[in-house]
Amino acid sequence: MKRDNSENKSLKELYRQLIIHHAKNPLNFGKLSNNPIRAEGINPLCGDKIRIYLNINEADTIEGLTFEGTGCAISIASASLMTTTLRNMKKYQANQYALNLISNLNEPKSQEAGQLMMDSQEINALEGVKDFPSRIKCATLSWQTFISALNNKKITTTEK
Ligand code: ZN
Repeated sequence: MKRDNSENKSLKELYRQLIIHHAKNPLNFGKLSNNPIRAEGINPLCGDKIRIYLNINEADTIEGLTFEGTGCAISIASASLMTTTLRNMKKYQANQYALNLISNLNEPKSQEAGQLMMDSQEINALEGVKDFPSRIKCATLSWQTFISALNNKKITTTEK
């Protein structure tokens, strides 16, 4: 089904609000104690730098997930959203979720856009970044860094 103009506008508005809100008030910002897994992600195109801290418990659940960093509003907002979304997921679920989100944001915009596999309205609103293709790496940086952390890769960059 094709989305009409009003729905397009509301996604844009949601996206705008999401970025402003999370960039101003990032959640789970700071270090974790208890010797967390760390990974750093860099997006040289924009200058975004994100460091994430991760604790996984004996049941393979993401128990702690925080971040620190400097960067544009999109990178900070997306990292904030990443920590709230993936926390309390099983490791394999969180990994799959991050992979899905990255591949989804890299897919071209289609009339099916809006129909994401993601069940969160905020995550769906993140898709608004597709209107600004040069910023997609800002949005995917923290998710990519999370996957790196799971794989014990200490530094990751959006550029090969
Ligand atoms: Zn950026």
